[in-house]
Formats: sequence, structure tokens, C-alpha cells
Amino acid sequence: MTTPDESLPLLRRDVAIANRILERVGLSHAFGHASARIPGTNTFLIPTRRSPGLAEADDLLVIDTEGRLVSGEGEPNSEFWIHARLYAAREDVGGVVHAHPQACVCLTQIGEPHRVVHNQGGIFLDGVPEYSPIGLIRTRELGDLLAKVVGGGNSAMMRGHGITTAFDDVRAATVAACYLEESAALQLRMLAATGGDAGRLRTFSRAEAEPLRDQISGNVAKRAWEYFAAVASQLPLGSGLSR
Ligand SMILES: [Zn+2]
Repeated sequence: MTTPDESLPLLRRDVAIANRILERVGLSHAFGHASARIPGTNTFLIPTRRSPGLAEADDLLVIDTEGRLVSGEGEPNSEFWIHARLYAAREDVGGVVHAHPQACVCLTQIGEPHRVVHNQGGIFLDGVPEYSPIGLIRTRELGDLLAKVVGGGNSAMMRGHGITTAFDDVRAATVAACYLEESAALQLRMLAATGGDAGRLRTFSRAEAEPLRDQISGNVAKRAWEYFAAVASQLPLGSGLSR
């Protein structure tokens, strides 16, 4: 069996890949970040303050849920409080993604809630609540407020800003962020095709969407991560595994 210490290089690699995915698939450009809880602790791995597309496994910081830098060199992303306070609020969460995907931002700015309109959207069956204050999450208090909006769910849309996903691990949080943007983009196209009439959308019923929760687990999630990680590997991943 792998102990937490032995698995840390692999977790570091996952976090670097997750961040690169966010940039490679267009969920973020210069901004956005993915993190992973170090199992069994109140600390998490997160990149330094630069584009997620430039994340390196050996340059990650370790921060705790009180926002204190535990180890690593450099300045954290200014919105690290998103991650810190979500991990504080939710012991079950092992991975958090925050990104600025355009279709999701558009949905918030036309006042449309997320609706399940395709299979992968089924993982958001329980709804994607909106965090409506404008601006960045740069304080502990705002981090707590966002965590409250996410509640026991797996995501939130942030008005005019982006999204946050919170899942068991960083792979799931990252794949889910990709699904959420895909879902929002489809919803926008459907709204455009209906002249903006949301009443004409054939939103999945709860009974229809329920079996689709498996789109973020098992072999489906494994296949999605494999693909997105391959896309992200167009950039060299640094020497993090050698440490
Ligand atoms: Zn942001």
C-alpha cells in the first residue's frame, strides 16, 4: 500500500497537470488554479502566482486552511482563500478548481441558472448555486462566503467571474470544471437557437439525470482525465517527480 509520503510526488504531478489542463482547454489563461489536499491533513498543494499553464510539480506551495504558508518558495495566487476555506469547511473535499471559463461567466451575466442539457451535465444535477458578489476572493471572509454558497454541493458559478468546483480529488474537480464549461456552452447555444426562450430547453429531469452521476467516477472519469492530461502534456512537466 502507498503511504501519504510516498504518494506525494504523484499528487504533485496531478496538481501540475490539473493546472495545465485549465489553461490548455481554455478554462483560464493567465489566471485560475487547481489544488489538492494532502491526504489526512489541513494542508493543500497549490501553484505559485502565475498562469496555471505554467505550473510545475516541484514549485508548488503547501498552504494550510488558515491561509498560512507551510512550505515552498514564492507567493501564492491571490485567491488561495477559495481553496483554504473550502478545505476547512468540507473534510470530504480533496480537490478544488477555480477558473474563469467564458460560457459559465456568460450564463451568470444573463441571469440563467445552470441546467442539465447533456450527459456530462448530469453530475450537476443538484444545481450549481451562484455566488453573486462581484470581485476576487482575496480574504478569508470571502472564502468562507463562497464555501457557504457551495455548501454540501460540488460547485458554484461566480457572477461575472468564473467557477469553483470541489470534489473528492483534484482529478475529479478538474474534469468536472471541463464538463461544467461544456455544459454552459451548450446551454448558451441552445438558448441562442431558441431566441433566448429558456422554456424551450429540454432540460433533463431528475430521473433522467440521476444515472449520469457516474460521469465523474470510475472508468468514465479515468478516461476523461487521461485525455485532458494528454492535452496538457504538450508542455514539459518539469522535474517534480525526481524530488
Ligand atoms: Zn478568479
